[in-house]
Amino acid sequence: MTDRKLRVSKIENGTVIDHITGGQALNVLAILGIDGTEGETVSVVMNVPSDQLGHKDIVKVEGRELSEEELDVLSLIAPAASINIVRDFDVVEKKHVNHPDRVVGVLQCPNHNCITTEDEPVESAFTVLDDGVRCEYCDTIIREDLPAHILAN
Ligand SMILES: [Zn+2]
Repeated sequence: MTDRKLRVSKIENGTVIDHITGGQALNVLAILGIDGTEGETVSVVMNVPSDQLGHKDIVKVEGRELSEEELDVLSLIAPAASINIVRDFDVVEKKHVNHPDRVVGVLQCPNHNCITTEDEPVESAFTVLDDGVRCEYCDTIIREDLPAHILAN
């Protein structure tokens, strides 16, 4: 670890997401459905110099331990992300994000005729490919700019 020391103070309990691709922190929060309205303390540091990534973002969410399922979705936009679960100021668990097989209810299908974008109570579902994601309803493939397709919460 030759990355510089984290520039934000330690948290007591919660989740620290480190090594986020530079500039993607706000998209990470969007994917996780964290918009601050629930009152949780969230710290975001963007574009910190990183030996590994050039520049990286860091997100700290206090008082909330994110589940593996939530975190795996992040691999789509921040494949190098590392996760630290913190309790009583100590890191009790370190995880990396894994590519999920599918993502449900996270991305919006760009096909306006897709059943998931019409006024139907159908949640979007995408199969994760090596180079993108494919809608399970209409087979539309999204290869680029996944963050632009994140569903607003
Ligand atoms: Zn679709």
